[in-house]
Amino acid sequence: MFEALQDGLSSAFKTLRGQGKLSESNMRDGLKLVERSLLEADVSFAVVRDFMKRVNDEAVGEAVLKSLNPSQQVVGVVYQALVDFMGPVDHSLHLKGKGELTTIMMCGLQGSGKTTTTGKLGRQLKAAGRMPLMVACDLQRPGAIDQLHILGEQLEVPVFSDRTQKDPVAVTKAAQAHAKKIGADVLLLDTAGRLHVDEALMEELKRVDRQAMPDQVLLVIDSMTGQDAVNSAQAFNDALELDGVILTKLDGDARGGAALSVKHVTGVPIKYIGVGEHLDALEEFHPDRMAGRILG
Ligand code: GDP
Repeated sequence: MFEALQDGLSSAFKTLRGQGKLSESNMRDGLKLVERSLLEADVSFAVVRDFMKRVNDEAVGEAVLKSLNPSQQVVGVVYQALVDFMGPVDHSLHLKGKGELTTIMMCGLQGSGKTTTTGKLGRQLKAAGRMPLMVACDLQRPGAIDQLHILGEQLEVPVFSDRTQKDPVAVTKAAQAHAKKIGADVLLLDTAGRLHVDEALMEELKRVDRQAMPDQVLLVIDSMTGQDAVNSAQAFNDALELDGVILTKLDGDARGGAALSVKHVTGVPIKYIGVGEHLDALEEFHPDRMAGRILG
């Protein structure tokens, strides 16, 4: 793990071999490599600054400077700081007892993977013996309703939609009644997204939130969007008080810097990661694994 960073630090400290002691300035050169690695992983500038402050304080301590293998020590300090910045994790969806309705509101920008992730959660819940009902509250994106129905058919999970409705609040209300009727115990609301955060979207989501009174509000974020992910997460969290984040498309090239930025800026835990287009490609988030990925 972290071979690249380890190699980089080793060469930064190479000049010191045989001198028996590591100087503070050499240590700082080594830490610049860490900083570059985070920026390359698309961690936002402000978060990199906070992170490096903590790591600097710890790494430039006596124990590390005098240790036999300072580069390994520094990697340890960096790794632990990454894990601390991204944790603790709460994987639970806080489902109520069977027979009681738990409502999970899914939100996120268009293209983040919100509808797909709703299907993935529907699949997991069904496998866990629950009775999910997926609800098409995205009345904005053409095809969103059809997409959810196709997922529902594939998964054999019921879907509620009303193509005559223009108001997602009315759809939510009708879905709540429908859930009771069919004995569903988890309502998964697939809400509307936009290409960018805007006032109208947030107002709509707040109205759905008031009607749904969700037990969990989950934000879906595309890990490829890097620093933009932080701004949108902050806007969603200001409007809705998020309970968790799901970071998608980590099967791609993204180094996962968004995981660090979003958790540090919003304080909202990342619960799951999306690792593919298939409906079984949803995993629990583990900060230690992500730390390795971010360091490259
Ligand atoms: P929405 O507009 O947020 O509802 O986004 P969609 O659920 O329609 O997803 C947008 C695209 O991202 C689709 O092509 C999905 O198959 C794809 N997608 C979603 N999650 C993942 C993921 O974890 N990995 C990959 N590779 N693609 C994903």
